[in-house]
Amino acid sequence: MPIPGLIDPVPVPREALASMDSRVELVGLSKEAIRAALEEKGLEPKQAKLRAKQLWHQIYNRGATSFEAMSDIAKAQRPWFAEHFTLQRPEIVTQQVSNDGTRKWLLKTRDGHDFEMVFIPDADRGTLCVSSQVGCTLNCRFCHTGTMKLVRNLEPSEIVGQVMLARDALGEWPSQPEGRMLSNIVMMGMGEPLYNFDHVRDALKIVMDGDGIALSKRRITLSTSGVVPMMAKAGEEIGVNLAVSLHAVTKEVRDEIVPLNRKYGIEELLQACADYPGANNARRITFEYVMLKDKNDSDEDARELVRLIRKYKLPAKVNLIPFNPWPGALYETSTDERVQRFSDIVFDAGISAPIRRPRGRDIMAACGQLKSAAEKKSRAELDRIAEEKQAALA
Ligand code: SAH
Ligand code: SF4
Repeated sequence: MPIPGLIDPVPVPREALASMDSRVELVGLSKEAIRAALEEKGLEPKQAKLRAKQLWHQIYNRGATSFEAMSDIAKAQRPWFAEHFTLQRPEIVTQQVSNDGTRKWLLKTRDGHDFEMVFIPDADRGTLCVSSQVGCTLNCRFCHTGTMKLVRNLEPSEIVGQVMLARDALGEWPSQPEGRMLSNIVMMGMGEPLYNFDHVRDALKIVMDGDGIALSKRRITLSTSGVVPMMAKAGEEIGVNLAVSLHAVTKEVRDEIVPLNRKYGIEELLQACADYPGANNARRITFEYVMLKDKNDSDEDARELVRLIRKYKLPAKVNLIPFNPWPGALYETSTDERVQRFSDIVFDAGISAPIRRPRGRDIMAACGQLKSAAEKKSRAELDRIAEEKQAALA
């Protein structure tokens, strides 16, 4: 029986509709682009250069949300900026706090699409889980986001905007080099970041810039379901830590649960990991492995995982993620004993394989549970739509 669901229906970028506002949005532009935009609106080159530097500091170091608040720009000049430029954050629709302290925000783009971001606090640090797309084209069968259709790629401003909103909420302006709660970022929210490569790269470059938000590339992790042709480019042009959603060690199972595997197979994927620029024993590649009962959680699977990691000589660690359920999901979570046994086998082979404690499950904020409230299609409905699309293409 063919497995329903398109493998990779629409990898082409879908952009935001043009804004009706003729003002230029500054959040998400590079320093150079800000300078050029200032010149375009009439500032002398020298002025533009100076002002661009000040704006960058105000936006990304001080967290300014209006030109009026920018004390180092002459009061008389501030209205001119407000007339030509904007400084937007995504709109907050709702916020929820889990009983374990995890926070989830439902956000809205200016053209009205919902997406989510999650903050997972620990004792003296915390991780922001950032979305790269509204929905996802990829249809992994255990992932709630995969039941949404892709609405569009998020803009750089909307990706950086998530980090800025989290900083607002945590009161972490101005940027401090040490002691911040928002210490790490993972591109593990909604969407496949390597299918929105340019925007994710531009946004992360801003997040990493030392004069602004200044988060080190060592504290940022990009997770991909295995978009092989983009992986080397990601290493070269972004250079952050890589996580790969492996989830299965046989073609049969991975084809089923991560349909992209039918396009880029396991061996090809692991070779791309071996070639990932910057991976070494100090900066290992993380393999994410969702534990699905009786699907991918046997001793044999664990041993095969070890064999594959060794075969490709990968500097690797494995994150075992107990499956987080959602309404209508086809899978169950492996038992605690099974997850522990799987972890022991991998550990005994000398590969770190911690079990990731689920966080924020009660507010549907855990891995793979994100799906904006507006989208309520069932799995069956989605399969039907996918089959219809496939038939239309045939
Ligand atoms: N699209 C990217 C990043 C987002 S998902 C990717 O697939 O890698 C972040 C991680 O959560 C991925 O490893 C994903 O496979 C995993 N995940 C998805 N659904 C899950 C679920 N229901 N339970 C546990 N993990 C899940
Ligand atoms: Fe998309 Fe990642 Fe979910 Fe797969 S696991 S559907 S790639 S968000």
